[in-house]
Amino acid sequence: CGIVGYVGNGTACGKPLEVCMEGLKRLEYRGYDSAGVAVVAPGLGSALVRKKSGRLANLSAELERDPLPEATAAIGHTRWATNGEPSDVNAHPHTSADGHIAIIHNGIIENAGVLREQLKEEGYSFDSATDTEVAAKLLGRNADEIIAENGETDLFEALRRTARMLTGAFTILAVDCRQPDIVVGVRHDSPLVVGLGVEENFLGSDVAAFVAYTKEAMELGQDEAVCISSHEVIVTDFDGTPITDSRRFSVDWD
Ligand code: GLU
Repeated sequence: CGIVGYVGNGTACGKPLEVCMEGLKRLEYRGYDSAGVAVVAPGLGSALVRKKSGRLANLSAELERDPLPEATAAIGHTRWATNGEPSDVNAHPHTSADGHIAIIHNGIIENAGVLREQLKEEGYSFDSATDTEVAAKLLGRNADEIIAENGETDLFEALRRTARMLTGAFTILAVDCRQPDIVVGVRHDSPLVVGLGVEENFLGSDVAAFVAYTKEAMELGQDEAVCISSHEVIVTDFDGTPITDSRRFSVDWD
C-alpha cells in the first residue's frame, strides 16, 4: 500500500532505514495491516529484511530487538493485504530464493497463480501466500538468467524482464546485495514517484514518502522502469529504451 526507497550519500547518508521509517509514517494515512524494510550494503551476503504484521510500532520494536547494520540503500513497505492474510510471513519485503534480492509491491499480480505453478515445476518453493513472493522468486530467477547470459549481475534489466512477464497492477521496488548502490523500480497501473536529492535519491508511492527530505520530484509514466543511485536517475520503458521527457515538479506543501 505504501512504498519508499532510498539510496545515497546526502543529508540522509548512513540513515537509509530512518528515511524509510519516516516515509512509512507519512504514508500511514493510506491504511495498512503490516510493515517491513530491507537493507543492502557492500559486503553483506544477502538483503536483510525485518517485517511485522500490525502497526509500524511493531516493526520499530522488532528493529530494536534485532537491529540492522548500516546500509547504503533501503526499501520500506506498508501492506494492505490482497493475496494472503495479514501476517509476519506475508508482510513485505519478500526475497529471491538465494536471498540476494528483496522486493516490495503495491497492487495485485493477476497471473501470480500460473507463475507460481511454473516456478514450482522449476524447483522453487514459497514461504508465503502472496502474489508478491511469486514476483520475488521470478525476479531472482531472471537475475540468475542474466548472470548466465552476460557473466554479470544486472538488477535493472532483471526487474524489467520480470515486469514484462507480469499482468495486473504493480509498483515494485527491488534491492540486491550484489549492487548495493542502486534501488530499481517498475510501475503498471499503480503510481511511482522519484524524489530528487543532492547526492541521494528517493522513490515513493506518493511524494509524502520523501517530502521530509526533498521537494523536487519526478513522476514515472505508465510502464516505466527506474534505477536510482546517489548521483543518477535512469528511466526507461520495460524494454530498456531510455525515456528522457522527464516530468519534474516541485512539491509545494510540507
Ligand atoms: N498484493 C500484495 C499483497 O497482498 C500487495 C498488497 C499491497 O498493495 O499492499 O501482499
